[in-house]
Amino acid sequence: GPQRLTRDKHGIDRRNVSRHAIKVCEVLHQQGFDAYIVGGAVRDLIVGLEPKDFDVATNATPNQIRPLFRRARIIGRRFQLVHVVFGQEIIETSTFRAPAAADQEADEDGRLLRDNTFGTHEEDAVRRDFTMNALYYDPIKEEVIDFQHGVADLKKRIVRMMGDPETRYREDPVRMLRAMRFAAKLNATLDPATLAPIKRLAPLIENVPASRLFDEMLKLLTCGHAMDCLRQLRAVGLHQGLLPLIDLIFQETGGEQFIELALERTDARIRAGKTISPSFLFAALLWKLVDKRWQAIVAQGEHPVAALMQAADSVLEEQTRKLAIQRRFQADMRDIWFMQPRFERATGKSIWRMLEQPRFRAAVDFLQLRAEAHEVDSVQAQWWMDLANADDGDRAAIIETYI
Ligand code: ATP
Ligand code: MG
Repeated sequence: GPQRLTRDKHGIDRRNVSRHAIKVCEVLHQQGFDAYIVGGAVRDLIVGLEPKDFDVATNATPNQIRPLFRRARIIGRRFQLVHVVFGQEIIETSTFRAPAAADQEADEDGRLLRDNTFGTHEEDAVRRDFTMNALYYDPIKEEVIDFQHGVADLKKRIVRMMGDPETRYREDPVRMLRAMRFAAKLNATLDPATLAPIKRLAPLIENVPASRLFDEMLKLLTCGHAMDCLRQLRAVGLHQGLLPLIDLIFQETGGEQFIELALERTDARIRAGKTISPSFLFAALLWKLVDKRWQAIVAQGEHPVAALMQAADSVLEEQTRKLAIQRRFQADMRDIWFMQPRFERATGKSIWRMLEQPRFRAAVDFLQLRAEAHEVDSVQAQWWMDLANADDGDRAAIIETYI
């Protein structure tokens, strides 16, 4: 049977637990169901990180859960779960599910196409990915249920895949990315058996739908340890299916340094609890290659503005073959890039027009990043930053000072 860990063994302070998640568990308990907080929240609480969101797992079915709450809706196609809504917070509440059975639908590489059968509590634990992600917290008894020695692994900072790692990666290649992310985020190491198959299986990442890859990649780049993650991805070859242009960018003079600066900035913002825009992030990751191609096209005699557009098109086209960057993000990336040359040859009139651009602020942040990388003059970048930070009333006076 599972280990049941008391407060002194798991150390979770109930005051750090979402009261809405506790409420969901209480209501389900009152109806005679089992209900636990599960997954990333329990992992993060044990190591003292602030959870991003709270999920609940229960033996109640979606149809039994929904009527118990005033604002709750059943969602999901692949498997159904219930979103219980409390103001800004959504508690994702799902029914215990069984792991992949041998007869379940899979593609030729073993990737699961559906997994939606209800299961027991223990089955729900082992179908998850890593031992540290298979912990269940009962907020009423203040007890952690641990089927797979996840707490011990977590305290030793070991990311360990449950079951046979190769099979689990074949079922869902995204788990390879998740392994990298949790290792970086928790400053943990991959258990050798968990790490071993990744290099060989990395190409399977290409079978994952491009939109899901984008979501996982974004989680990875915004986990607060993006540079570590990226290094790890390159070390095992996983970047090939994700950011195929990264190798080229690292080869460029200053390419590695630029990405390092961009990701340090991202990490600092995330750790300070600020948000980052995906467009800014991807604009920064791909910039050095855009810049290089831009210069090359200009050297052939093309007009700088047209050349920049051609360079952006070719880089985006190559990148998005593997990892879909949503259209709206691509449009924002273009705006950020296309504003760069305008900072260097602005006139009083054009400055006012630039201020009206919705991406102006992001473009100025990007200019600042380029200044840190010694690509542009830092005094000039600071002038634009002051302008961006100024109130409307003060802008005319600042623009007067433009030289
Ligand atoms: P984060 O802090 O990024 O939210 P998380 O562990 O909560 O990390 P989620 O993607 O929110 O990650 O997933 C919640 C839980 O669902 C995980 O902790 C894990 O138990 C399970 N899970 C998620 N993705 C997978 C997967 N690809 N394979 C198996 N289990 C998964
Ligand atoms: Mg989560």
